[in-house]
Amino acid sequence: MNERCAIGVDMGGQSVKLALVDDTGLIHLRQQAPMNPTLSADAIAALLIQQVEQLHSTAKIKGFSPTAAGIVMPGYMDVGRTKLLFAANLPTLSGSDFLSTVKTGIDDMQVAFDADCNAAAFGEYHFGAGRGIDRLIVVTVGTGIGGAVMVQGRILRLWNHISGSLGHVIVNAKGLRCNCGARGCVETQASGPALEKLATELAAAEPDSLLAQYLAQHGRLTGHDIRMAMNQGDAPAQRVVRECGWWLGAAVASWSVIYAPNMVLIGGGIAALGEPLLNAIREGLRDVGQPHTTRHVRVDAAALGPDAGVVGAAAMVMPHVEENGSDLE
Ligand SMILES: [Zn+2]
Repeated sequence: MNERCAIGVDMGGQSVKLALVDDTGLIHLRQQAPMNPTLSADAIAALLIQQVEQLHSTAKIKGFSPTAAGIVMPGYMDVGRTKLLFAANLPTLSGSDFLSTVKTGIDDMQVAFDADCNAAAFGEYHFGAGRGIDRLIVVTVGTGIGGAVMVQGRILRLWNHISGSLGHVIVNAKGLRCNCGARGCVETQASGPALEKLATELAAAEPDSLLAQYLAQHGRLTGHDIRMAMNQGDAPAQRVVRECGWWLGAAVASWSVIYAPNMVLIGGGIAALGEPLLNAIREGLRDVGQPHTTRHVRVDAAALGPDAGVVGAAAMVMPHVEENGSDLE
């Protein structure tokens, strides 16, 4: 039985996902529990400890011996990753002693925390589509856009353990006001909600289109509807994907002049749009970007899909990535 495995935990505002992952990135066990973001910090800590202990017990019964748990969550941590400064979707945790409570509560395993935007980069670099890439950017596009920059296998930790707010790079300075307060962030142009908003507008403008038909049937348009319509050659759906991809390409162009990545991987729900989206991103990058800087930037799909969070969290505490600064104690 594989001894070299770890528990990865992806904490969000709606659920806690856990997995037992081995040192090749393979998931052996999964577990999930609903999260109630209105619970107190102590109650959330108790839930997390119980979930980790439960998976640890199951793992031992099955013959595995994980010795560490990597936990990723939304928000900002202090330099030593012992205090949570701000947790976006779990407001009671902001400023609480949550991290130390959890570390104390899980006394039979080493525990390390990190920002969830770093998880996919860990996972893709060690087990996914970005293996061994010198300068790698991994971006997750869903309700929001987040990601991390990895340089020679280490997360670029510029402040609060993040590589910067990649989703808030400005691509359309005269565009819409973003939730963050800035104007025209790529998140306002190419996130899941932006995609659905544009699709709804185009459906209204093209009443004979498949998009309009789906809108009438379902009451609202989802990424799934857009993909179905696109795959059947619906022109408005194809335009939605082309435009959102182009804006993402503009963001890749901006990240490129700052970080000079060799590769940019796109993950999250939007990745289901596949090659048409990737091609639109590449086209946007070529159209907008500085030729000299962007010529060698590869844009591809992330490989780990919905497992990126748990696999990345586990990767973070595996012995071979300890140099990433996972601050195991
Ligand atoms: Zn913004």
